[in-house]
Amino acid sequence: MRLMEEKILQEGQVLPGGILKVGSFLNQQIDTRFLAQMGREIARLYAGEGVSKIMTIEASGIAIAAAAGMAMQVPMVFAKKHKTSNVDGAVYSSTVHSFTHNTDYHIVVSRNYLRPGDRILLVDDFLANGHALRGLMELIRQAGAELVGVAAAIEKGFQGGGDGLRTQGVRVESLAIIDRMDDNGILFRRQ
Ligand code: 5GP
Repeated sequence: MRLMEEKILQEGQVLPGGILKVGSFLNQQIDTRFLAQMGREIARLYAGEGVSKIMTIEASGIAIAAAAGMAMQVPMVFAKKHKTSNVDGAVYSSTVHSFTHNTDYHIVVSRNYLRPGDRILLVDDFLANGHALRGLMELIRQAGAELVGVAAAIEKGFQGGGDGLRTQGVRVESLAIIDRMDDNGILFRRQ
């Protein structure tokens, strides 16, 4: 999505440690018109795949996942983050390593909202090492639901998470893939 690349070039800030800040349009302030465009683009990419539900993790994935859900006219469910693994039997749960905070946390989703037979599209703002998405995939596995694919607003290709999933046969669509990012600028992968 050329528009995403332009937006990153115009408004993104490259921070030390391989972090891209997009607080002006996705992570704190949200450019709502652009968000709707992102949702429509994800809907276009996964049209005809029989997606029955969108899934993400709170908090930063919620906006884009909701936009995709609205465009596809399907519900969106987000996994909640828990500090402890002490959760009751009414939920599916797994552990995720956070790249941005360098800690582990637990994610849970109510068994009521994830069912066998659901065809799930995972959506997130960033795809870096892929830990967040792998945690969600574990919840899908526990529920006996089916993974249709992944859509990320921004993939940091240099961290390898997206290509790792592709190698495993998972369909991964990213609205922009950054292959290199440093003081000299940002290099996008041609898709
Ligand atoms: P992963 O689990 O793929 O390593 O990281 C994905 C999660 O970490 C995303 O949900 C996102 O919240 C956060 N994240 C990873 N890299 C970045 C980044 O460069 N910028 C921002 N704002 N968030 C990031």
